[in-house]
Amino acid sequence: MKKLRRFAVILPLLLVAALCSCAGKEDADVKAGSLTAHFLNVGQGDCAFVELPDGRAVLIDAAENYYGEGIIGYIRQTGHDKIDYLVASHPHSDHIGSMGYIVRHMDVGACYMPRATNNTKAFEKLLESLENRSVPVAEAGSGVVMIDDGGVKAEFLAPVSISENLNNCSAVLRLSFGKTTFLFTGDAETEELSEITADLSADVLKVAHHGSADANTAETLGRINPKTAVISCGAGNDFGHPHKETLDLLGQMGAKVYRTDLDGTVTVSSDGKSITVTHDNMAIERAK
Ligand SMILES: [Zn+2]
Repeated sequence: MKKLRRFAVILPLLLVAALCSCAGKEDADVKAGSLTAHFLNVGQGDCAFVELPDGRAVLIDAAENYYGEGIIGYIRQTGHDKIDYLVASHPHSDHIGSMGYIVRHMDVGACYMPRATNNTKAFEKLLESLENRSVPVAEAGSGVVMIDDGGVKAEFLAPVSISENLNNCSAVLRLSFGKTTFLFTGDAETEELSEITADLSADVLKVAHHGSADANTAETLGRINPKTAVISCGAGNDFGHPHKETLDLLGQMGAKVYRTDLDGTVTVSSDGKSITVTHDNMAIERAK
């Protein structure tokens, strides 16, 4: 009798404990089972940090050279200490300006970049930092598969060929998780995008070249057919990005457009089936 009574007291406690641990596990599973892309508000430039469902991380581009500390601070806040895959879309300073700093201050597993060079300090510093830290460098070009495991596939669709215009050497990366797909386009213009014969369709598009009209024709956007479009650009930039023609086309297609200049850092999460978007109205801090 005594034993039974004790059991009657212990049983509900066990059940509560089991339920608690279950809820905790569910939360962990939700985070572990999601792919989250953060489009950082870095003024006129690009920087996207992607958390993969298994905990690995990808950084695509790293803005101008005064954002290194701010980008690393943002990444650490998400709980990451390592960048497994670093992608330099093309060697312009608004994409690789802070990349050398990041390589010197964080663990980087591997770096992918197109076979294009630039004789700028930012690019030389990046190459020097990669060499000093012994980071393996691989070519980003059409057909190169960067990741293909754990339900995630990341494949470069371009560059197909190398152009004299560095924008048109941009690494274009298609990332899929479950039924959802993201497309990162760097500053690829129509000349480069029209060379791609592979499937361009994507649910989430990092709009090419900061929303410039030279990159976003009805034909290309029609092939991509995004539901969510993120434009990375600086408020009041000198180029008038994003161009009205691009916004009009995206609007006509029914894509929901987010802009880092208006919405701050934009975060897009996929559970493999559907996409959710949040934004914080914040900017990554510039170094003084
Ligand atoms: Zn750019």
